[in-house]
Amino acid sequence: MVDQKQIYNFNKLQKRLRRNVGQAIADFNMIEEGDRIMVCLSGGKDSYTMLDILRSLQQNAPVNFTLIAVNLDQKQPGFPGDVLPAYLESLGIEYHIVEENTYAIVKDKIPEGKTTCSLCSRLRRGILYRTAGELGANKIALGHHRDDMLQTLFLNMFYGGKLKAMPPKLMSDDGKHIVIRPLAYCREKDIERFAAAREFPIIPCNLCGSQPNLQRQVIGNMLRDWDKQYPGRIETMFRAMQNVVPSHLADSNLFDFRQLNAGDPVIAGGDLAFDRETLPAVPVGWQDEPEELLQLSVHQRLPVTEIK
Ligand code: SF4
Repeated sequence: MVDQKQIYNFNKLQKRLRRNVGQAIADFNMIEEGDRIMVCLSGGKDSYTMLDILRSLQQNAPVNFTLIAVNLDQKQPGFPGDVLPAYLESLGIEYHIVEENTYAIVKDKIPEGKTTCSLCSRLRRGILYRTAGELGANKIALGHHRDDMLQTLFLNMFYGGKLKAMPPKLMSDDGKHIVIRPLAYCREKDIERFAAAREFPIIPCNLCGSQPNLQRQVIGNMLRDWDKQYPGRIETMFRAMQNVVPSHLADSNLFDFRQLNAGDPVIAGGDLAFDRETLPAVPVGWQDEPEELLQLSVHQRLPVTEIK
């Protein structure tokens, strides 16, 4: 039996996810009047949540837009091809399943034991861009969330020597579509709880048998440990990505250090190197997580309610 407290907690969680998605859409002007958005659905918790939240926001959105859910069946052994069509039929929404045997191509081209992800994802990207064109979609929505963005930031810093993450909105490689990430402000732990409570029919992501990206896993674990040990650190780091101060980094393409002369205005607080830094007791941008959200049962489907 679903008790009132669980319903209350679920509604709070749902409301927070909607608020996060709505805010990201507004901040980055992700969705505009007349957009036809191809929602990429892998069968994982993130993409199910993205579709669910976008559909609910669509009902009260100030602009008209359409959604078409797309899944790419890459013919991995054991992929349950009936799961997504059955789910999407039950929702009664427009959808399209693309069948392309990228699994065979990857197996053919990549020697046994080598990582297959880079070719596989390149092929997938090309197919999805082509599909968006065929379906007349001008935008492509991907289910990456805040924690994916931070992981990418650290991956690029640790292994790529770049201060670069994953943007909430960008131009596709072929220059024909805008790629949006409506979950950019959503925490992975919220998405996990939401997906479990809604009992989405999750399709496991390890069907291809490829080794997962170990570096990404290590960074994911590092971020999770930090989150436990130093509550608020993740929120603050994400905020830092939105608060870049080029004059206080070292990229002369971003800031013209050569033209800096005595007598110029002080920029971004000047030099604090000689000062003892006063750091806030509570990390910037952090709000304590309401305990009740942690207690949300994940084993029962809970009703969806509208935000008032
Ligand atoms: S894990 Fe498998 S399906 Fe996913 S990108 Fe890598 S090779 Fe492709």
